[in-house]
Formats: sequence, structure tokens, C-alpha cells
Amino acid sequence: MSSLCVLLRKTRPLLHSLSPAMQKHHQYTLDVTASLVRTQSFVDGQWTSAASVFPVLDPATGEEIARVSDCGPAEAKRAVDAAYKAFHSWKQVTAKERSVLLRKWFDLMVLHREDLAKLITFESGKPIQEARGEITYSASFLDWFSEEARRVYGDIVPSPHRDRKILLLKQPVGVASIITPWNFPSAMITRKAAAALAAGCTVVVKPAEDTPLSALALAELADQAGIPAGVFNVVPCSREKTPSVGHVLCTDPLVAKISFTGSTATGKVLLRMAADTVKKASMELGGHAPFMVFDSADVDQAVTGAMGSKFRNSGQTCVCSNRFLVQSGIHDVFVERMGRAMDAELRLGHGSDPNTTQGPLINARAADKVAHQISDAVTQGARVVRGGKRLEGSFMEPTLLCDVTTDMLCTQEETFGPLLPVIRFNTEEEALAIANASNVGLAGYCFSQDVSQIWRVAEALETGIVGINEGLLSTPEATFGGVKQSGLGREGSKYGIEEYLDVKYMCFGGLKP
Ligand code: ADP
Repeated sequence: MSSLCVLLRKTRPLLHSLSPAMQKHHQYTLDVTASLVRTQSFVDGQWTSAASVFPVLDPATGEEIARVSDCGPAEAKRAVDAAYKAFHSWKQVTAKERSVLLRKWFDLMVLHREDLAKLITFESGKPIQEARGEITYSASFLDWFSEEARRVYGDIVPSPHRDRKILLLKQPVGVASIITPWNFPSAMITRKAAAALAAGCTVVVKPAEDTPLSALALAELADQAGIPAGVFNVVPCSREKTPSVGHVLCTDPLVAKISFTGSTATGKVLLRMAADTVKKASMELGGHAPFMVFDSADVDQAVTGAMGSKFRNSGQTCVCSNRFLVQSGIHDVFVERMGRAMDAELRLGHGSDPNTTQGPLINARAADKVAHQISDAVTQGARVVRGGKRLEGSFMEPTLLCDVTTDMLCTQEETFGPLLPVIRFNTEEEALAIANASNVGLAGYCFSQDVSQIWRVAEALETGIVGINEGLLSTPEATFGGVKQSGLGREGSKYGIEEYLDVKYMCFGGLKP
């Protein structure tokens, strides 16, 4: 991959094309405590090799950083069986003991934060500052659910009969299959697994093929924390083996629940598979977030919100703003300041360079998609205010477009990349109609200083999450999840643990007065 030499250069400022003389070549190496770089599957408390391996690549350079066991359906079945066996003892462990173990796991994540962040940077391309932030966020779910474990209260309900008592008891559902994406290689696992383990469930995790190392490092720390064998299992596999592994995880009768984060298309495939055995399902799927800026907005606040919401992880999060709706009166100043903020704050480069704010996209296909949306918009009359170019490998210039209309592809499908398309609107009704004209609804953002307008818009937005004068929202204390085809269920908050619990009605009859 030496032709991708630009990717090995030191960080470069946005929109400054480097002359060859300025290109500083730099080799980046993954330097992490050996015990955290695990490459085998983790099943029933054992590290086990599969018959073959698959490569993990640094998306910034295309270079191989590890070879990981390529599990198939047999390994997946073994993991399900181990999780099922472990469930019978794990559910008997007291909530307090489960809480203590989750807390130990949290402490170990904090202790190894830097190494865990490096793994994220090298396997996903995420800038190191953001990777550190992800580890803090990821660990926060262990912290939060270690506390929630002890608050799984049932109910005693007033009975209509004098000789009966009504008890509603919450119990863990059983084995949960957890299938996660590459854009948050650590946090998407703990957001699910911490809730599951707190509830008394056991899990089998299938991480994304691009980012198995973070998942396996989590398993190593779970083991060090004393989480019993079979409670937390990880079966990494290649894209080729994914359908057969996925089939076991979504159809095996011993699995009670599937929890998935990823694309809407894949979520539908998994739901269909899970239907035959009527499994419980939590689905956190794609978004198409509107970011609405009204005339009364504080423009600097809106620009700060847009920078965070759009360019975090190079635009590769499901809550990233995808369509920027800006009212006529504030439109020009917003676009102008947005361009200036992009010039000042965005720097492309390898994620391990501390100056980098924009790493590569996960692969060349992802960058091609963004480039295609840009050329489609430009052909239909959009104007490129900043960026616009497809760079080497999977790098893409952060791009600001104006004069965008709802006929353009970038306003009709999720971009998952650093493209900020601005649509001008005149009235609140018009903006809401555009914002809600989507079959998905995960996050939406509203910038305004008019309190009545904020309430109207926030209530009318057809999304599961609303940011009001704020672009970065995720936290374990709050719910995460969408409406429409953005998914089913909620993660995080006091509700997240409910996804792993059944309510049993116990009727105590025949009581004598
Ligand atoms: P992307 O296209 O960005 O990889 P996906 O939604 O396809 O998004 O991937 C999210 C996760 O879903 C990954 O772990 C991926 O391996 C997994 N996945 C994709 N297809 C299947 C499948 N048929 N069965 C199980 N998991 C799948």
C-alpha cells in the first residue's frame, strides 16, 4: 500500500493541498501492552484459536495490524452453549456481587484507557483524542450499570381480591447475542453488555469485522476483573463468516435476546432471523438527523454544535447531523462562520497524531459514497463552500455545501461521512416538514433562542433524541434510541436494563383474612 504514502504523512491542515516537498513521511506503529492485544476468540473463559484467521487493517494506511481468529458457526454455537450454562449460575449471583464485578471491570478500563484508545485509533481510524473520549464513555456504562444492577425493583400491586396478592418480579431474560458496529468499537459493546450483565444475563458478542481488537481487549479486562467464565464471550469473524455466525446468534433456541447496533438494512435481516424463535430484540439502527438553525439562534452556538455533531468521528456516527436546515435570516452568516470554523479546527491525518481531528473513513467504499453524494449535489446546483475532494485511500475532505435541495441524494440517505449540506428554509412549518420527511428518526437538533419555538419543534420532531442548542448528547444517564426505522428499544439510562428483563406476575392466592 505504499502508493497511499499521503496517509503516512503528518497531520495536515484542511484544504491545504500539500506540495511533495512538504510531505513528511511518518510510520505509525501500534504500541500497546501485549496482554491487551488479543487475537483469539474468548469463549467460556478460554482464549481459543479458530481454524483460520482474518486480517485487521489500519484504515489510515491499509496496513495489517493483526490477524484474528475467524470464528464460524461451530464456535458461535459453543459460545451460546457456554453462555447458557453460565446463565444458570450468573443469575443466582447477588445483584450486589454483580455490581462489584462490573465496577472492577470499569476500574480496569480506566487504568488501561490509553492502550484501549490506541487500539480504537488503529483499527477504526478514529483520532486519538476522540478514542480516549470513547473509552471514557464506554467505561461509563460499566459504572452506570454497576449501580443500576442494585435497583432492579419489582412491584407489589394493590389487588382487587382480598384473598390474593399481586407481585411483579423482574428476572433476567437469559442469553443475549450482541452484534456491534465498527464506529464505536468499545462503547457499543459496553452499552449493551453492561446492562445485560447487571440484569443477570450472559452474552455472546460478535464485534464488527473491522474492529475486533477492542472487543477482545474488553474480554481480557472482564476476565481480569473476575467476571466468571461463560458470562462474557466474544466470537470475532470475517465478513465472509458473518452471515453463518449471525445465523447461530439470531436463531439458536438457547438465545433469548438479540441486541444490535448497525445499519437499518442489516437490522431487518437480523429481526427476520430472530422472528422464528420470537426472540426479544433491541435495534439501534441508522439515522438521518436534521440540524435546524432558526433566525433567533445564537450563531456561534449553532456553529459549535454543528462542528461537534457533524465532524465527530469524521461524520461516522448514527446521531451525526445529516441535513442542515438553516432559516433565511441567519443562513449567510451561519455558512460563512461554518466555513471559518472548518478552516480553523479540522486537520486531516493519521488518528494517532495528536493534532489530527479528522481521520480516514472506515474504508474506501465509505469515502466513495460521500464523494458520490457530493457530485450528485453539485450536478443539481449545490455550491461547494469548503472541501469537496476525495483524497487517497479512505480519506475524504470535510465538505460544506450550500444551495442544497431535497432532490439531492445527500438529503435523502444517511451520509456517514464528513459532508455538511445546507438547505435554506423560510418558515418553521417548512423546516419541520423537511425534517420529518424520513422513514428513520434517531436524533434531531434545534438551535433557537425562542422558548416557545423550542418546545413546538422539539415535540414535533419525529426522533428519539433531540438536542436543543447542543450538538453532543450521548451520556449513560440518558436514553439512546430511535423511532420509525431507527430501531426498537432504548439503551442507557434507567430504561436500558429493562431490555434484558422479563416481568413475571406472581399471584399469591388463597390468603385467609
Ligand atoms: P456496515 O455496513 O457499516 O458494516 P452493518 O450494519 O452491516 O454495517 O454492520 C454492523 C454489524 O452487523 C457488524 O458487526 C457486521 O458484521 C454485522 N452483520 C452484518 N450482516 C450480518 C448478518 N447477516 N448477521 C449477523 N451480523 C451481521
